[in-house]
Amino acid sequence: MPEQPGKNAIEVRGVRKVFGTGENQVAALDTVSVSIRENEFFTLLGPSGCGKTTLLRLIAGFDFPSAGEILLHGHDIAPLPPFKRPVNTVFQSYALFPHMTVAQNIGFGLEMIGKPKGEIEARVAQMLKLVKMEALKARRTSQISGGQQQRVALARALAPQPKVLLLDEPLSALDYKLRKEMQIELKRLQHETGITFIFVTHDQEEALTMSDRIAVMSAGKILQVGTPRDIYDKPAERFVADFIGESNFLKGEVKSVADGRATVRLSSGAEIPASLPEGFTPSVGVTLVVRPEHAQIGPADANASLRGTVENVVYLGTDTHFHLKLDDGSAFIVRRQNSRGGGEALAPGSRAGVAIGANAAQALKD
Ligand code: ATP
Repeated sequence: MPEQPGKNAIEVRGVRKVFGTGENQVAALDTVSVSIRENEFFTLLGPSGCGKTTLLRLIAGFDFPSAGEILLHGHDIAPLPPFKRPVNTVFQSYALFPHMTVAQNIGFGLEMIGKPKGEIEARVAQMLKLVKMEALKARRTSQISGGQQQRVALARALAPQPKVLLLDEPLSALDYKLRKEMQIELKRLQHETGITFIFVTHDQEEALTMSDRIAVMSAGKILQVGTPRDIYDKPAERFVADFIGESNFLKGEVKSVADGRATVRLSSGAEIPASLPEGFTPSVGVTLVVRPEHAQIGPADANASLRGTVENVVYLGTDTHFHLKLDDGSAFIVRRQNSRGGGEALAPGSRAGVAIGANAAQALKD
């Protein structure tokens, strides 16, 4: 994947991390390389066990790579213990001191590195303002809410002015509404401080909302790095298309390729134009990915690319999902935006056709 311009805060080069020995050996990271730019909100996204936390721990210095190197602003950080790295971590369990006040918690790290009292007070005041917790500065952290604890944990991690802030699923303990609020808040904090944030999550919506770029991980590997739009609109692999958003997959054969686009013939005989991921020259068999909102449902007539029977109709306020069983037996979902009185009624059991427009499909390796 070509690298975009911009100075790198972190460069991970060929990093492997193996736990255990013999039969119990696990490659938590299987030769991972990625560059994270200065002032970037970068997210590691993937299912449980894919190696996200391991990569974060290696950057923080809590663990060491089995092979490869990690550079911070161009320098190998292997010799530096965690407390000497200009990197700070916000953990899932905020790890605040319950007997201390909000202000004491925020100033704790600065005290540990021997900063003068006046400097600590000024910095704590600045941080309280940044996370909007001035009114609660004298409260013990055992007497504030989960969302407020999250803000204190962030302020404490930001107080020593790290160059990179690592965030390991920091919003997972919050309820849905608070999590949505904190997503916006985190983005604001990153923007205002200019610090590089490396955020770990298994929640695709969280990743799409906040990130400048996302690395999608699976089984110890990084499969794709890109902007949220790139990852959603141009998934490079089937796993990425499946993990982020909803996708329909159709098998087909390439009939022709021209100017980075393919014409793919489906088993129904329909010919569908499809874009190709960068660097992918398809042979005969491919899988097409079509997002449910990029397909149109209508009558099962000659204009339809696919035909089938409506199995289920789910009304979701802003849009309606039609679950179809295609004539070849496979499943297909179409999402239609609702408008007042618009759209024909398609009850379960009715025959329907699906039209796939010129820019709706992307071909992936079969
Ligand atoms: P989650 O979202 O569940 O936290 P993750 O993507 O952060 O998952 P990791 O915690 O990095 O995943 O784990 C990656 C793999 O390495 C898993 O198979 C895990 O069981 C294994 N692993 C992690 N730490 C250790 C360890 N200390 N000893 C042995 N195996 C480990």
